[in-house]
Amino acid sequence: MSYLVLARKWRPQTFDQVIGQPHVTRTLQNAIKTGRIAHAYLFTGARGVGKTSVARILAKALNCERGTSPVPCNECSNCREISQGNAVDVLEIDGASNRGIDSIRDLRDTVRYRPAKSPYKIYIIDEVHMLTTEAFNALLKTLEEPPAHVLFIFATTEPHKIPGTILSRCQRYDFRRIPTREILAHLSRIAAEEGAGFSESVLFAVAREADGSMRDAQSLMEQLLAFRGEELDDREVLDLLGVVDRETVREAARAVLDRDVRKCLDLVDRLHGRGIDLRRFCQRLCEYFRDLMVLSFGEARGGSWLDLPREERRGLEALVFRTSGEELFSYFQMLVAGEEEIRRSSLPRVALEMLLLRLATLPRLQSLDSVLERLETLVSGAAPTETAERRIRFRAEDRRDMAPRHAPEPVSPSHEPSKHPADLAGRKPEIPAAVPPPLPPEEDEPEGPQVEENDRGEDGALSSAAGMAELLGVSAVVDDWEGFCRWVAGRDQIMGAKLGQSAAVEDPAGVLAIHVLEVYEASVQNGDTERTLREHLSHYFRGKKAAFPIRFSVKKAAIRKPSEAGPRNASPTRLALNHPAVQQAIEVLGGELVEIRPLTSKKKKNG
Ligand SMILES: [Zn+2]
Repeated sequence: MSYLVLARKWRPQTFDQVIGQPHVTRTLQNAIKTGRIAHAYLFTGARGVGKTSVARILAKALNCERGTSPVPCNECSNCREISQGNAVDVLEIDGASNRGIDSIRDLRDTVRYRPAKSPYKIYIIDEVHMLTTEAFNALLKTLEEPPAHVLFIFATTEPHKIPGTILSRCQRYDFRRIPTREILAHLSRIAAEEGAGFSESVLFAVAREADGSMRDAQSLMEQLLAFRGEELDDREVLDLLGVVDRETVREAARAVLDRDVRKCLDLVDRLHGRGIDLRRFCQRLCEYFRDLMVLSFGEARGGSWLDLPREERRGLEALVFRTSGEELFSYFQMLVAGEEEIRRSSLPRVALEMLLLRLATLPRLQSLDSVLERLETLVSGAAPTETAERRIRFRAEDRRDMAPRHAPEPVSPSHEPSKHPADLAGRKPEIPAAVPPPLPPEEDEPEGPQVEENDRGEDGALSSAAGMAELLGVSAVVDDWEGFCRWVAGRDQIMGAKLGQSAAVEDPAGVLAIHVLEVYEASVQNGDTERTLREHLSHYFRGKKAAFPIRFSVKKAAIRKPSEAGPRNASPTRLALNHPAVQQAIEVLGGELVEIRPLTSKKKKNG
């Protein structure tokens, strides 16, 4: 039982040595100083946070041979016997194994006798919530009229199971989970004292695994010390302990945010090979996304809820900018549900694989503000504001990073980037098909449709002239209009939106007539839109020149008639729903009306 050695060696002997419970130790020390000692104390809190240790220190402080003092001497026979757990006047009782009425009756019999050689007779009852109702009733009689020399210290992890009649007679102290930072500092001290050089990341993983319990942390540390001197890297050490290392968790989070499906599958394969508990891993990933979310929402507002060393924090900060709060929230919800699935699944490996795939292929979500900003830009027909432009460029860069350099293999499907605005509205994520849909052609090798031979003939006469670009026929554009619009949406979101649900026809005069939604009427009637469109056409149709005239017109949407109720009692919601622009926005984005925000007031606020 080498664990006991370390636990005994590092058990706190004075109030000052207790870690993470200053609110308890300070109050107790003050009570001792001022002589206000209660007859019954209740220490509550998770396991391994120091309840029994503090109970013993309190017993020593009261029964020290050098007199009651907030700082026991730890040298006299009373102090030493209490530390060793064999003091005659301090009885430690395990509530779990002495839960019956008989045990408490025996206890009541001894209560009557005065302490043998100390000021107080102290009963420390651990796991007191395990006592039976009869035992509690018997105990209550003693608590109602306690002899002056008797003191009870109850410890429990489940205070809600203790009858109110008992609770009301106790002075209650709630012990907190020990912050990871403080556990880490303590483990570092132990490692230094024991002459073991473990990296901070190993110690942090252990501290985090202990989840606020110093006892668990020390138990893991004890095992860790057994590997001292062996040539093991951090990951091997943690694998031996069954602790998920932080680097792998971070790697998984990065793969999800990068939408790197291949890496996700590879990671699960490695975890499985290393014998890591996959559910444990999923829990750690949940925590990691929780930390990202806190960083994304809270920390920006000056809060501080991250219990992390600086190095760990930097890793989070590097990732948090790759995503949005809305996305993180979706990731987190899926992780929580996924953890449950893994727990129940008979194929945890497959469940984790599917979970990571779902996460990595989650369609990008955008905040309402950014969508509004873009809509305003589109409707006004003005050049995009700097922020909107930057955001759009950022998305475009994302897409370029995501596109595989070579033809993707069937085993690692790469999620097709959102091409249609409807994808932005948060559709249900789908597990990608084994073969990914074709990606838009790369910049350097434009790949238009296979042009029919007769199309070629139509333009043949002109194309034969040296130095002149081949001309594009209107009919070729009309025939492949849908494909062209999809392609545009993949690389130019603004133009893609304008062309969303558009129709193209060739009128008798050889003009390309494009019908767009009414919402874009103003924005397409400027030279910029036409020029950009011509560039896209030329790009898509393999460098052919679009020399034909282009005309934009409005495609009338089926507009709902306002209800028979007059404008007098028309609610803002109904007015908004009846507005053609809103109807079209709902149609384009596939959404529903949730909230109405007047744009004018927003502009005023921005100045
Ligand atoms: Zn002493």
